[in-house]
Amino acid sequence: MSEARITWCSGSVLRARPEGSFHINEALLIGPKQLLGEVIRLSHDEIVAQVYEDTGGLRPGHQVTGQCGPLSASLGPGLLGNVLDGLLRPLSALKTELIWPGVRPHEGGTFRFVPAVRAGQQLGPGAPFGHVEPFPGMRLPCLTPPDTSGTVRHIAGEGLYQETEDLGELHADDGTSQPLRMRQEWGIREPRPVARRLGIGPPMITGQRVLDGLFPIARGSRATLPGGFGTGKTVLLENLAKWCDADVIVFVACGERGNEMAGVLEEFPELQDPRTNRSLMERTVIIANTSNMPVAAREASIYTGISVAEYFRDHGLHVALMADSTSRWAEALREISGRLGELPGEAGYPAYLSSRLAGFYERAGRVETLHGQEGSVTIMSAVSPPSDDFSEPVTTHTRRYIRTFWSLDRTLAQARFFPAIHPLLSYSDDADALAAWWQGQGNPQWPALRQQFLTLLGEQQRLERMVRIVGRDALPQRQQLVLLCAELIGEGFLRQSAFSLIDRLTSPARLTAMMRLLGSFISHAETALEGGANVDAIGELPVLRRLQRMGEEIGNDAMDRFDLLQRELDSQFYALTTELADAG
Ligand code: ADP
Repeated sequence: MSEARITWCSGSVLRARPEGSFHINEALLIGPKQLLGEVIRLSHDEIVAQVYEDTGGLRPGHQVTGQCGPLSASLGPGLLGNVLDGLLRPLSALKTELIWPGVRPHEGGTFRFVPAVRAGQQLGPGAPFGHVEPFPGMRLPCLTPPDTSGTVRHIAGEGLYQETEDLGELHADDGTSQPLRMRQEWGIREPRPVARRLGIGPPMITGQRVLDGLFPIARGSRATLPGGFGTGKTVLLENLAKWCDADVIVFVACGERGNEMAGVLEEFPELQDPRTNRSLMERTVIIANTSNMPVAAREASIYTGISVAEYFRDHGLHVALMADSTSRWAEALREISGRLGELPGEAGYPAYLSSRLAGFYERAGRVETLHGQEGSVTIMSAVSPPSDDFSEPVTTHTRRYIRTFWSLDRTLAQARFFPAIHPLLSYSDDADALAAWWQGQGNPQWPALRQQFLTLLGEQQRLERMVRIVGRDALPQRQQLVLLCAELIGEGFLRQSAFSLIDRLTSPARLTAMMRLLGSFISHAETALEGGANVDAIGELPVLRRLQRMGEEIGNDAMDRFDLLQRELDSQFYALTTELADAG
């Protein structure tokens, strides 16, 4: 282990004179409290390091010790159900200030291990040698490290073991002896290897109608959620974490204020998983770095989060990673860069902001694991552009690396229209590829209805400008009908309260039923208009109110009520058109 002496220290950055050889990204232990750090710059007579803990008390002359390996995360089944900081140290819920310098990673849990191999058996990289059950219903294989293969020398029998204990020994192909454990250490800046990357498959069902219906995201894809302060980013991201159909959720809260985090930390343990009716927290990992924690730890937390996500992906699971907010992460990057005296780029961010963002988003994907299973990591990130300026660097660079853009709109949020996703500024590059999946799910009209809704919403915006000038009554009947239908889509489909027990989650079957009903209303209304009906008469049909409120009134478990609504819809339009025919 090489050593160095501190010569200069500012905030979370220090310089030191090396007395041995170091390498870039090497993990360090610093000063008497053994603070954790990492080499970020290197020359023959100086190392520059960032420190992940509070540097209060450090001074020139203190010793720095190299750890030989890179800054790594301890990845194991015990992560599930825990709240940890950016270095995977346990945070006791709500008492984030209790982390004191020098605390080491989480202890992990004790699990019942069931072996699946015998001595003498050959194991390839990533091959399972047994399994544990972190909670009932989840069978998590114990995997050979991704960079190791060899012959099993011995393996432990079934029983309770600590996550850190040796469960066996591998005579590795390179002649060394390697322990087999539940836990793996992994350098956080290095993507974990896979057999191959797969193309777009099924969607990640989010439970939010505006997303699943209009701007869907595929499993293993990347979405961002830009929006100014108070436009609903955190509520939406938390809602996605609660209800999306991933097997494991990794929620990285980055640079939020402690009191904002309190909501997540209090609420999650009490939520019920709609799939298992058990606690949702069991399959969730929360990584929290509040704004009062050291800035370098915030920079690392996003890599820690994605490493945790990749670790569970390698077990053949579908993982969703939520990052709130990547702007706070970019600010950490800017602060560290400033302290290093680097030449600032746009808005003071370092020139490597874009490549760092690319490196993060590229770690999302649907893959075949080393052991031949399918797994995925889907990234959904929030961006908080200052003064709602979407042309600022973090938003513009992020846009280059994502496929789905969920643009939050201040005007909608001020009108208390949630989720405040702007239907014309948002987009999804995954939508075309996902159409076939929806068509196979009993929603053959999904692409056509999606397009129809988007077209109506686009026309609505254009017509509203005219309404402001000439008034609604001056518009031709056909255009008034466009407005009526677009408003119905807004009220009956796009608006969805995160706090309503009935409406906070929409299943694919419910989404299909709602889209079909709205499509049916639109085509009935168009036919009625052609038959001479008046838009006001259509607007007065009682079924219109029912459709506007169906999200609030008909839950996922009452699908037959949508059929009743369809019959009501048919009969009211039938009555309207026969009335017209009789009058004619
Ligand atoms: P941001 O993270 O963008 O600053 P928040 O997510 O904290 O904004 O949302 C601000 C407020 O807006 C919330 O406290 C809540 O009252 C309201 N809100 C946001 N999203 C929703 C939603 N989907 N349903 C209902 N209310 C919402």
